[in-house]
Amino acid sequence: MATLSLKDVRKSYGKTEVIHGVSIDVEDGEFVVIVGPSGCGKSTLLRMVAGLEAISSGVIEIGGTVVNDLEPRARDIAMVFQNYALYPHMTVADNMGYGLKIAGLPKAERAEKVRRAAEMLDLLPYLDRKPRALSGGQRQRVAMGRALVRDPAAFLFDEPLSNLDAKLRVQMRLQIKELQRTVGITSLYVTHDQVEAMTLADRLIVMNAGVAEQIDTPMAIYDRP
Ligand code: ADP
Ligand code: ADP
Repeated sequence: MATLSLKDVRKSYGKTEVIHGVSIDVEDGEFVVIVGPSGCGKSTLLRMVAGLEAISSGVIEIGGTVVNDLEPRARDIAMVFQNYALYPHMTVADNMGYGLKIAGLPKAERAEKVRRAAEMLDLLPYLDRKPRALSGGQRQRVAMGRALVRDPAAFLFDEPLSNLDAKLRVQMRLQIKELQRTVGITSLYVTHDQVEAMTLADRLIVMNAGVAEQIDTPMAIYDRP
């Protein structure tokens, strides 16, 4: 059974259908990247999985549970956005631990999970800083850490690197690769950047005008004559 499963998912705004029956399975530990031009429906698709946008028809399952009618917070996922969405008045540690606090986890357990994630993401020296005292790359790592501590069934990434400069993007790609290797994060990752897609994907979904046109390994898609 796939960890994340979309079956014939559609979305219409008014009378206009923008997602035309997309079906995707993301297996346990698999890193699936959706790549396509601006406006093809990547963000809408991800937001439907997260529960931030209602689906018009089809079925979305997370960890074997149909989530169509579940609130975002009742879905076993964590989302990483391009604009970080950190709380400015909270420290790095409190930002990372906030979701666990809401979930009612005792303080000592939160602190341990936060410390472990911070170690993986090279954030230990910054735990007591506020987001404004961090670089863009560090902020994005905090956003990753906040998702990581929750240990969700699947991670959803919405163009997380697009606000970073070229050098930082490469660094973050390597860091995400390292997380794939060590933690085996099950992920659905959206980007318009083909290099990013090829570097990260176990499997690629090429999306165009609301349709998943190709689903295959990066090799099979880009090595075609
Ligand atoms: P991408 O993330 O690939 O750039 P989007 O998911 O943002 O694409 O958008 C997919 C399509 O849906 C676009 O044609 C966009 O104009 C349309 N769309 C997105 N949000 C809305 C909305 N709230 N109302 C109407 N159309 C929308
Ligand atoms: P509470 O509001 O319950 O008193 P805190 O605001 O003290 O909790 O802490 C919020 C979260 O941040 C908790 O998950 C806590 O464990 C974590 N935390 C705070 N400071 C650190 C730190 N220096 N190292 C690791 N974790 C920390």
